[in-house]
Amino acid sequence: MERRGEISVSKPDRLIVWIRRDLRVQDNLALWSATQDAGSVIPLFIIDRDFLSLSPFRRHVMLKALAGLRDDLRRIGGVLIIRTGEPAEVLNQLFREARAAGVYLTASNEPAVRRRDDKLRSEVESAGRVWRSFAHNVIFDAGAVLTSAGTPFRVFTPYRRAWLARRDDIAPPLPSLLEMNSPVLDPGELPRVTPSEFPSGARLPEGGEKSAISTLRSFLGERVGSYAERRDVPGADGTSRLSHHLAIGSLGVRTVYKAIRDARRDDGNAGASAVQRLEGIEKFLTQIIWRDFYNQVLSHFPHVVDHAFRKEFDDLPWITDDGPFNAWREGLTGYPVVDAAMRQLRMEGWMHNRGRMIVSGFLTKDLHIDWRMGEKHFMEWLADGDLALNNGGWQWSAGTGTDAQPWHRIFNPVLQGRRFDPGGSYVKKYVPELSRVPARYLHSPWEMPERVQRESGVIIGRQYPAPIVNHPEERARALGKFRHGKKSAMVPAAKKAAMTAVRAGG
Ligand SMILES: Cc1cc2nc3c(=O)[nH]c(=O)nc-3n(C[C@H](O)[C@H](O)[C@H](O)COP(=O)(O)OP(=O)(O)OC[C@H]3O[C@@H](n4cnc5c(N)ncnc54)[C@H](O)[C@@H]3O)c2cc1C
Repeated sequence: MERRGEISVSKPDRLIVWIRRDLRVQDNLALWSATQDAGSVIPLFIIDRDFLSLSPFRRHVMLKALAGLRDDLRRIGGVLIIRTGEPAEVLNQLFREARAAGVYLTASNEPAVRRRDDKLRSEVESAGRVWRSFAHNVIFDAGAVLTSAGTPFRVFTPYRRAWLARRDDIAPPLPSLLEMNSPVLDPGELPRVTPSEFPSGARLPEGGEKSAISTLRSFLGERVGSYAERRDVPGADGTSRLSHHLAIGSLGVRTVYKAIRDARRDDGNAGASAVQRLEGIEKFLTQIIWRDFYNQVLSHFPHVVDHAFRKEFDDLPWITDDGPFNAWREGLTGYPVVDAAMRQLRMEGWMHNRGRMIVSGFLTKDLHIDWRMGEKHFMEWLADGDLALNNGGWQWSAGTGTDAQPWHRIFNPVLQGRRFDPGGSYVKKYVPELSRVPARYLHSPWEMPERVQRESGVIIGRQYPAPIVNHPEERARALGKFRHGKKSAMVPAAKKAAMTAVRAGG
């Protein structure tokens, strides 16, 4: 059996459990261990500066999950305490107020959080209190899946093989918590996200552990059979939509793994649909392994936060101009599938994975803009923003990351649109000004003759921008840049076109 990731051991009486990205009752090792070790438990959530600076979509899902957690804890006798302030002060104050002997928490693998936690831990311990942290946000912690030489994997495929070879070691989720005692303390209040923080017409995601479990069940029960076929189609509801739950821990990843294993076991019968289900289940498991992969990349190679994973690409010349970047952010590049995905992000705080690959490739290889600007923009909007996965995805797309063929993979946004949104439902949903454009022009509307533009109610350059760059030219520049690491000469042209695009769309 896998050893649980415990860092230090002690047996205190009254304990704080500092809830962070583990907003659930089920399979929460820190919470569960505290109830085993102490007579009385104080589950605490801190509204700090980091929380207040999160995207509104992210705060929305976290607050939903916190409200659910508060109710679930109440049902078993616990009380969730909400405090506002900086963690060190809040913890010290609560240690004194509640006479708590220590704090349990789920460890983070984000370098800045780890540094902050290390400092806090030494303060807590030097005051004679207990600090116990558990690695429980991934299935296999960073050191658990290594090459035969004992080094971290740098490429996904062999990592996946090694991960699967250890799958029998995966501990099942913890038994449900049935009872908890909490001392009488002022519970505090949950803040709100005001509607004005969202764009008008925004669609807010579901939140909370209950909705996570029911989404997991309905996905594995009903939709996983078409996952292999539809997971790449942004216009289809083909993926699990579990990412924000996994990012904030309103769903434990071991619960997901157990559900996958159970679903596979249920599929003993033969037949085409059983084969499709198994294929879907395996593909879904592969995504969960990607999640572990990028988490171990972040743990072993913390330089990725600010630098290229592949150090030889750290000095590539990137552009930081606002013009093209703004056109990209607003969904006004003139490439419909790029614009649809960028607008989906603003409306839903989520973007389909194919969209994420297309827009990140477009920003870095067509606009030559620094991947870190795109990564930051995603974090400012995503409900599922997750440093490990977001950084891994951006570096993969930028060609600086773990992709085995990093820089010659350049997506053509027109062909991507035609291939993955052939009926145009995705583009028409998020770029409604193109809804009357005939299918053959939908992914390259600038090719419409003037008459067709008039009939479709969209004049290029007026109701919808002309493309801000010429893809074949930018592709050649990107290849040259990677090959020679030299500055590209296209900047002023892209900037000018982008300004026109923003004016046309505005
Ligand atoms: C540029 C870029 C940025 C990304 N940023 C994030 C991010 O901030 N947060 C995030 O959760 N995902 C991120 N992803 C990965 C992926 O796009 C999302 O996890 C996925 O779209 C979420 O939808 P889903 O839950 O329906 O996915 P499903 O296909 O149902 O996948 C199930 C789960 O597997 C994990 N997963 C799926 N795809 C990947 C992947 N490529 N890498 C690692 N794990 C994966 C996620 O936890 C996801 O919830 C990014 C991908 C790219 C290309």
